[in-house]
Amino acid sequence: MKMLEVLDIAQKVASTTPSSSTDSPKSLSSFRLRESSYPYCTFPKFLSLPREIRDRIYAYILVSGEPIQPHLCTQGPNISFHDDNQEAHNAIYLRTQITLTSHQVRSESLQIFYGENTWSYGYDTAIYLERLSQLNRFSMIRHVMLPIQYKNEKSVQKILRNIHDNLAAQEEYAWTMKKNKFAAKLGMWGMKTELEVLREHPMYNVLWDVGIFLVLRKLSTAAADKEKENGNEGGGRTLTLRVSWTAWFDESDKNKYPRLLWFPKVVDGMGLKIEYLGSHEVIGDRSVGTWVGWMQKYQNREAKEIDREGTRGVERKEQVMKKALETYPEMMRMGMPSSTNYYRKRCEGGIEWFKVV
Ligand SMILES: [Zn+2]
Repeated sequence: MKMLEVLDIAQKVASTTPSSSTDSPKSLSSFRLRESSYPYCTFPKFLSLPREIRDRIYAYILVSGEPIQPHLCTQGPNISFHDDNQEAHNAIYLRTQITLTSHQVRSESLQIFYGENTWSYGYDTAIYLERLSQLNRFSMIRHVMLPIQYKNEKSVQKILRNIHDNLAAQEEYAWTMKKNKFAAKLGMWGMKTELEVLREHPMYNVLWDVGIFLVLRKLSTAAADKEKENGNEGGGRTLTLRVSWTAWFDESDKNKYPRLLWFPKVVDGMGLKIEYLGSHEVIGDRSVGTWVGWMQKYQNREAKEIDREGTRGVERKEQVMKKALETYPEMMRMGMPSSTNYYRKRCEGGIEWFKVV
């Protein structure tokens, strides 16, 4: 880090309220301008600053004023994600340069980057969180926002069936990975890049609504052990979500939103128990749907538990979808379209079509 830049930031940070995300620059162009006008010099005492000041400097640089919507970059050859909510394609890259300074700065600043930013749902949020699990960083995530669109309750079974099929694809993917590891040991495999392997993951090739529930499941914590202690076998998974008004999702409430009731039904089918916390504020455009927010501080357990669960391998679809299969026995006999298409924007321009079979 350049000394003047650090001092400049430190001064700015000192004169503003702590950890307020609105202080973050909307774009990094101002940073770049400053960089080029200063002579190159270093600030070796950065690590002698109190941790609190360092954290505030990290937050100033790393925390975006808006939620970050990860997009798996199509420009390869390495795995990298950019932020769809930023105009500059390399905004995250520029923002996170400080994390490469030293081992200590990296471990401190990554905590701030993952923990203080809000992550918003997009096509690649599921695979992004999956990637963070692979890197053992998932537990640092503290805030996730998910859009829930208005839908007819008739869509419940179809979404559940799609989730079921995605979980089946995940089991197959895990099995292929295992086989390939074995083949690689024998020197028979290894032609695919890490990026290519990741792009084959079912969390990447996912329909919009399915991805939302895969993310929610990932964010949920298994209460199974706790329930067992209380003498209840099975348990389940719990999740606390912040919503505008809890009544919207409550079938028995007169203020319910009929076109949101599909959401708790799918959640229930996946064996998730959700507690809704009303924030009494409306976020986003109420004409298309609503947002729900997941915050680590409201959950029963530390996210570290989720990282540990992740190492236990893929959950079996029969287990996850037990409730859905009981409630909708006809679900598996449903006539499904042979494939569904959707597209993502390519970083180079243009679009890329995907087919979910
Ligand atoms: Zn990109």
